[in-house]
Amino acid sequence: MTKYVYTFGGKTAEGNASMKNELGGKGANLAEMCLLKLPVPAGLTITTECCTDYYKNNCQLPKGLMDEVHAGIKKMEKIMGMKYGDPENPLLVSCRSGARKSMPGMMDTVLNIGLCSKTIPGLIKKTGGNERFVYDSYRRLIMMYADVVMEKAEGIEPADGQGIRKQLDDMLDAYKEKKGYKSDTELTADNLKKLAESFKARIKKVLRTEFPDDAEAQLEGGIKAVFKSWNGKKAVAYRRIEGIPDDWGTAVNVQTMVFGNMGDTSATGVAFTRNPATGDNQFYGEWLINAQGEDVVAGIRTPNPLNDETKNEQNKHMPSMQKLMPETYKELCEVRRILEDNYHDMLDIEFTIQDGKLYMLQCRVGKRTGVAALTMALDMLKEGRIDEKEVVMRLSPEQLDELLHPILDSTDEKKHTVIAKGLPAGPGGAVGRIALTSEKAKEYRSAKIANVLVREETNPEDVEGMRAADGILTARGGMTSHAALVARGWGKCCIVGCDAVKIDFAKKIVHIGDKQFKEGDVISLNGAKGWVYAEPVGMINATENPLFKKFMKLVDKYRKMGVRTNADNPEDAQNAINFGAEGIGLFRIEHMFYGKNSEKPLAKLRNMILTDNTKDRKAALKELEPYIRKAAKGTLKVLDGKPLTFRLMDPPLHEFVPKLEEKDKIKALAAERGMSQKELVKRISALHEVNPMMGLRGVRLGIVYPEITETQFRALFQATAELMTEGFDPHLEIMVPLTINVKELEHQKAIADRVQAEIEKKFGVKINYMYGTMIEIPRATLVADQIASVAQFFSFGTNDLTQMTFGFSRDDVNAIVKDYTDEKIIPADPFNTLDQEGVGQLVKLGVERGRSQRANLKCGVCGEHGGDPASVRFFYKAGLNYVSCSPFRVPVARLAAAQAAIEEERAK
Ligand code: ADP
Ligand code: MG
Ligand code: MG
Repeated sequence: MTKYVYTFGGKTAEGNASMKNELGGKGANLAEMCLLKLPVPAGLTITTECCTDYYKNNCQLPKGLMDEVHAGIKKMEKIMGMKYGDPENPLLVSCRSGARKSMPGMMDTVLNIGLCSKTIPGLIKKTGGNERFVYDSYRRLIMMYADVVMEKAEGIEPADGQGIRKQLDDMLDAYKEKKGYKSDTELTADNLKKLAESFKARIKKVLRTEFPDDAEAQLEGGIKAVFKSWNGKKAVAYRRIEGIPDDWGTAVNVQTMVFGNMGDTSATGVAFTRNPATGDNQFYGEWLINAQGEDVVAGIRTPNPLNDETKNEQNKHMPSMQKLMPETYKELCEVRRILEDNYHDMLDIEFTIQDGKLYMLQCRVGKRTGVAALTMALDMLKEGRIDEKEVVMRLSPEQLDELLHPILDSTDEKKHTVIAKGLPAGPGGAVGRIALTSEKAKEYRSAKIANVLVREETNPEDVEGMRAADGILTARGGMTSHAALVARGWGKCCIVGCDAVKIDFAKKIVHIGDKQFKEGDVISLNGAKGWVYAEPVGMINATENPLFKKFMKLVDKYRKMGVRTNADNPEDAQNAINFGAEGIGLFRIEHMFYGKNSEKPLAKLRNMILTDNTKDRKAALKELEPYIRKAAKGTLKVLDGKPLTFRLMDPPLHEFVPKLEEKDKIKALAAERGMSQKELVKRISALHEVNPMMGLRGVRLGIVYPEITETQFRALFQATAELMTEGFDPHLEIMVPLTINVKELEHQKAIADRVQAEIEKKFGVKINYMYGTMIEIPRATLVADQIASVAQFFSFGTNDLTQMTFGFSRDDVNAIVKDYTDEKIIPADPFNTLDQEGVGQLVKLGVERGRSQRANLKCGVCGEHGGDPASVRFFYKAGLNYVSCSPFRVPVARLAAAQAAIEEERAK
């Protein structure tokens, strides 16, 4: 029989930290903490497999599961010395969700399960008549249970603001207001008792079922509800964004309750073993006296600081745990040490203090900003906790990317006044229009308008809007609130707990400090400091960080695959070299015909395109040649000593002349060229192709018009010769695009040889260059061995290769791809991340066949995929010599390549 239940408690456990797949992260780590002899309330974990079986089974618990659960509870009872459902000495439990990968706040947990009319009196007696505590726990159970088990798990979707939880919360608020209470803690036992009764009445009215007054029914309901929450709306949305598979399922942890709400010697809190925003080696956390679990995260009361060292804007006047409970604080510091020694990483922990006694309820490797990840990894190297390779593995490529992201320009920042301060929850800076709803943020995002999502507090329903926002600002919540956790996970600029923010939803306005804003007004955030500005502040890129440099040095030490860049001008090339590019993998000459300073060369190019005879074409090309030479020379000079792969002209020629329907442009061009509009229209029509992406482009241009390639060869060889005589060290690689067979290469090579001899003679130098080709048509991969007899290098053009392999038009296919990924017909957009299954096979085949002909064939990649970490890992395994990507992705590709090499070594 399948074992579904694993128990833990009493300083021992059936599971351990390595069993995340089976027990979920929470369950595995609870077991590990028991093995570390930390104080953990006894419990049991129902496996993720059980969740999967539950869904396979039409949402029925597997047969025999509850028997296994009861056997587990027996063990818990023995360890804890209480009995579940017992009238004298009742044990209460929580039902906690916990997937393999943490999904903060996305799934549900119910506390205080097992409280019912049978057990209430016993618990009161046991706690020395602490009625207030018991009824506080009871009303919490009712609120959570109604929401999670009776509403959500039943698939009831109430209208906005009509959910049972909201209704009960409103009742609680109204009651407090009637009594003139400011805080939950002022509610008396009697108040709470009355509230519980009216809650139950409301539940019956709204949900048409009774709140179950039976410990057994509550337990089974709780377990099922946690399984159900795996397929809750917000959990599903989160999985889509994070790429977590639907079939992983969640585990359920049934754990003995301990109580932080027993009075002033009880408390609950969350902490990070190091500062998750900066990475500083200081114990960082928040806690609340006389409170239960989710109170800290929910932002209902402002939490106290853990210690004096880490007080912030919001809680600087409040006493720390270090002050109020020095003994327990010391014990917690010891837990911190034990955990870091065991996990060799920063952890995020949840704890509760019941009447002075500390209990650990959760630990997991903590989310952190890119800056913090960098700082911690290098600190831990110094502390001897991890080695250099592990340092390299500690930053995800996305986090590295985040380090390269813009921050507010501090000089410009000084010219503006800070209008409000909150907690610095997410890194970087953001300047954008205020969006008051997730919908608005998404709307701005699709219109490519930078925006800042401003909310009272965020809840899990907001994830998509948070994703769409450039920055997030909330009025409430602490460093461990939902907004802070999610933003930090994504490396998104975020400020929380900014109480100067007052939102008026009805009027769509927001007050920040004494200023008033409409939705759509621009504000700026400094996420590292928690400062808000009323105007747009300038932004700059965060480079030149010495820690960053040190880290990248380690990255390069373990990296084996080369990283080049795609650049078409000296500035981009220099920028990429600064980011560590080892050469240019793709220089597109046609880029000189777009944008700034393109008028003159474009006019020459058009002359060439619009002639109808070879003689005129040659004359036009002769005038164009100096521009090509200058462009190539400028970038080759910057590259000095590093290779530059020059791709021969690739696009269909019609891209450079106006479209037939652009009447004004045709009129202007005809006038400029002194030809009739009719004649011009005729020549443009002659260029028309039904399917230009599969038409006259790439090497085909050079076969049909050999003079076009001849001109480019001349420009390139002359630029090279000139640089050599000027004392530079040009490493030219000429790349023929869109090749389908070796004859094309031979045809073009004959021209190159002729021009090379001519230039060598003229300059009296010997030109060394490499002659190679792009592999971007499936046929080329099949005949790669033949192609390699002439080509000295291959560069896989994975954009076109994907287009031609899928038969997906790059320019039109977006909408289709979206449906395909939504329907899970394909796992991801193949233009973003390489389709390893299909296109990847062609890449491997091309490399293999090519090298069967030419053992030292150099192989690289120059498609967009060269900057995608998952694709880079694949290219490494496929044996490529280098990837090439846009300048800003170069550090990311370097890191992905190093990680691939380390992973390969570790797998051995
Ligand atoms: P999440 O995954 O959303 O963090 P948890 O299962 O960790 O949900 O539960 C949220 C909070 O509830 C915990 O941080 C803890 O404070 C409280 N809690 C859960 N189980 C118990 C328990 N057995 N005793 C006391 N508090 C608990
Ligand atoms: Mg938790
Ligand atoms: Mg191409």
